[in-house]
Amino acid sequence: MHEFAAQDREALASVAQWIAERLTSPPEAPSPGHVHGDTVLPDLTREGVGPQAAWASLRDTVLPTSFPSDHARYLAFVGGAPTPAAVLTDAALSAASVYGGSELEAGAVVAVERAAIAWLCTLLGYPEEAHGTFVSGGSMANLSALVAARHGRSSTSGGPPSIIVMGASAHSSVRAAATIMGCSVVVAGAGHDVLRAEHLEPVLAALDPTDVVAVVASAGATNTGAIDALAEVAECCASRGTWLHVDAAYGGAAMLAPAYRDLFAGIERADSITIDPHKWLFTPFDCAAVIYRDPALARAAHRQHAHYLDAVNDDDADNPADYAVHLTRRARGVPLWASILAYGTDAYVDAVERCLATAAYAAKRIEADPMLDLVLDRQLSVVLFRRVGWRAGDYDRWSYRTRVRGLGLVTPSMYAGEPVLRLCFVNPRTTHADVDVLLESLADAGSEP
Ligand SMILES: *Cc1c(COP(=O)(O)O)cnc(C)c1O
Repeated sequence: MHEFAAQDREALASVAQWIAERLTSPPEAPSPGHVHGDTVLPDLTREGVGPQAAWASLRDTVLPTSFPSDHARYLAFVGGAPTPAAVLTDAALSAASVYGGSELEAGAVVAVERAAIAWLCTLLGYPEEAHGTFVSGGSMANLSALVAARHGRSSTSGGPPSIIVMGASAHSSVRAAATIMGCSVVVAGAGHDVLRAEHLEPVLAALDPTDVVAVVASAGATNTGAIDALAEVAECCASRGTWLHVDAAYGGAAMLAPAYRDLFAGIERADSITIDPHKWLFTPFDCAAVIYRDPALARAAHRQHAHYLDAVNDDDADNPADYAVHLTRRARGVPLWASILAYGTDAYVDAVERCLATAAYAAKRIEADPMLDLVLDRQLSVVLFRRVGWRAGDYDRWSYRTRVRGLGLVTPSMYAGEPVLRLCFVNPRTTHADVDVLLESLADAGSEP
């Protein structure tokens, strides 16, 4: 096998330098050639090209084609702007070859991830006994929570509970989880309704409670940023003994901002919560947390059993593998911990508040522009709006042109059956000037080729 040689060291130095430059200069959008051109990849050969040439291919041919999620005008989907400390930790974590599934192997790395989960619990208003783990994304977190919610239960009809009740604005991954689990979905409310007791009550009343896996509410809907009426929903669930899962993958971070905390009242009553640090808590992809009010239930659902695992399946051990649909895992909570350790929680509050303030600026500016139409009051850091006179094709063309010119990444969405543009602010380095540049570009005719 190949040994680490002098040329690897040179490659490593070159990567380190590249990372340092990448983190100290504004992220660049792909240049037009890189977007249009068909990337020609080098062949995979018997002899190999050596680490330096392989790194050069990645750096010069591959990476320049991707639109970095921390670009100041990446406002599509939900971006992610990792801190330098989080990136460095993530890189070093690979080199350290930490098996993050069990305490036996990972040592104090497990304590670090526990501290990161505990910090999230404090943020969410969860009790000290709450615990969970970090998984690849909100999708895996939601699936893991729902599997735990169903574990060990049977409905009066004999089989396991088979219905997942969700609000109208639940993320697509909840449906995906239901499909994987062989469950059906019942939607409470319609359109972009915020989930309220008045939607949930009649739905739950019509169902056999033993057949309901869980109710899924959103704390920051992906499309609109809206937060379901969590206190009402929690009360409905508690009165029936129904598991409540709150998906705060995107929005949970806003609980750092004192002015927004009240919107989340009731989240602390959830049986499980999803929150994605890779969205708005400044870690690299991937890092999402699933947290349970009663971690023992989750462990019963998720711990794998085999003779070769007897050595780690000690009830006193805190094994991150036990809380989700995974076994081997990256200790992906470590970059979150290192970043908070490095910069302190005040910096986190400040960064989240800055995103919220930029979103508020964008909403205000849209309201003041006769050519633009704010579609609904800003919720968290999502802004939905229309360009007067534009149709779906105009939005698509503008979005495409904006991307290939390297100006920004903004994609259209739909609201109440109408095409809209959607801005999502999760990067504290996005400035008012960035917003201005994008909005001003909308003044150009949309129907230009
Ligand atoms: C993004 C998102 C998810 C999915 O998370 P991934 O990390 O993309 O798997 C789930 N729920 C909500 C509310 C989201 O915004």
